Amino acid sequence: MAPLDQAVRRALDEIVGAARVLTDPKSLRRYGADWSRVGTPRPAAVVLPGTAAEVQQVVRLAGRERLAIVPSGGRTGLSGGAVAARGELVLALDRLNAIEDFNPVDRTVRCGAGVITRQLQDYAAQHNLCYPVDFASSGSSQIGGNISTNAGGIKVIRHGMTRDWVAGLKLVTGSGELLDLNRGLIKNNAGYDLRHLVVGAEGTLGVVVEATMRLDTPPGDLAVLVLGVPHMGAIMSVLAAFQTAVPLSAFEFFSEPALEKVVAHQGLQRPFETPAPYYALLEFERVGERALERAMTRFEHCLEQGWVLDGVVSQSVAQAQSLWRLREDISETLSRWTPYKNDLSTVVSRVPDFLAEVEAVVNARYPEFEIIWFGHIGDGNVHLNVLKPDALPLAEFQQRCGEVSQWVFEIVQRYGGSISAEHGVGLLKKDYLHYSRSETEIAIMRQIRRAFDPLGIMNPGKVFD
Ligand SMILES: Cc1cc2nc3c(=O)[nH]c(=O)nc-3n(C[C@H](O)[C@H](O)[C@H](O)COP(=O)(O)OP(=O)(O)OC[C@H]3O[C@@H](n4cnc5c(N)ncnc54)[C@H](O)[C@@H]3O)c2cc1C
Repeated sequence: MAPLDQAVRRALDEIVGAARVLTDPKSLRRYGADWSRVGTPRPAAVVLPGTAAEVQQVVRLAGRERLAIVPSGGRTGLSGGAVAARGELVLALDRLNAIEDFNPVDRTVRCGAGVITRQLQDYAAQHNLCYPVDFASSGSSQIGGNISTNAGGIKVIRHGMTRDWVAGLKLVTGSGELLDLNRGLIKNNAGYDLRHLVVGAEGTLGVVVEATMRLDTPPGDLAVLVLGVPHMGAIMSVLAAFQTAVPLSAFEFFSEPALEKVVAHQGLQRPFETPAPYYALLEFERVGERALERAMTRFEHCLEQGWVLDGVVSQSVAQAQSLWRLREDISETLSRWTPYKNDLSTVVSRVPDFLAEVEAVVNARYPEFEIIWFGHIGDGNVHLNVLKPDALPLAEFQQRCGEVSQWVFEIVQRYGGSISAEHGVGLLKKDYLHYSRSETEIAIMRQIRRAFDPLGIMNPGKVFD
């Protein structure tokens, strides 16, 4: 890879200060990769601007020099969207990390793109409110990254995805213009809502530099139930039984091999003695005195129907937190096996049939690989993780998983589902985009991309070519 041109280096130094242009090998490795571990990080440099105006100047310079830019948040992405493997300029938003202008009437707050998700959650709690989008990586991911991936997580069934909490955002386009989109309005039908094009665009339309985020009323007391379930089909019967009885804020699932690994590697207790092929984790608000009673009646009903084998309900906040860890620690636990991740979805009512077909294909095509299932099943979203055998080289493993993915994606297509429910497309899923999007849709997306980024410098090679 060619080193950064000296004149470009001097121009970057002038914009952000020499200490904020990193070219040492450690920084290049760190900022050029994300959690997917796809590709070898090889950026030309990492730039850390401190204002939206500096971002504009860097983008304009990159445009003049035809240098590709990779916007970089917390790099917890799982599809290679923030990977810089082709001599790009990594534009890291870490320094745009201020939370300002809390407005108790609008219940909004203005965040720099580099604000960490947990920082916003804590800030909301200090003002007796909550930011309800949550997932296992919220201690490292950034609001700009959450917006760019439209992150979902564990509370989507009740609170929706990141998109639902973005009241406005500022974007530096690929031509260096600053757009102020929607400005916090609740009602704004004056033309196309460009804000929603940027949400989930994975840095291909520009750099998000700031967002006005909505906050919510915090939930009351929450109870957590973990239930052992005999087969995947029964999980959806359990969902139907509980969702009419109590206000669910989460409905997750994981398989026995997932539980075994989490218990072994995180030093956690099994929820109960009886092993079950699958587990459902439900969280609900204890609204009124009878919510728990209603939940217990549903539990008895599920036991009678044979949909549930055993279960436990949290008796304290501490117990609820340790039950949550059984689900939340799965991704981190599995990372030692460099899993190949599929992030699939279909409409909730079709999940049992969909999963039965996917499971049959996977068992037939991956006989020698260990498969781990978990996910946000209440949203119709399952994570299918294939673990890499130690002896198999990474590239060969990824290639073989890619081949089998096609069989899985054909099922996804037949069900009208998504090949990427919440992790985005990035590099890892771009060859499969056509299973979820028509040719016409992809052609329109190309035109939209060109309108925002006429020079083609914003995260090229990601989502589609
Ligand atoms: C343990 C673990 C659990 C996870 N659980 C979930 C989950 O439950 N639900 C879920 O949805 N995701 C989950 N993820 C994935 C990931 O955390 C989310 O996609 C998150 O939103 C990424 O944010 P980030 O700041 O790390 O973005 P990055 O990884 O840095 O970037 C992601 C994409 O956004 C672009 N980008 C980043 N910042 C900007 C910006 N300011 N402007 C323009 N483009 C930008 C990048 O170029 C890239 O394409 C999980 C990840 C891990 C490691």
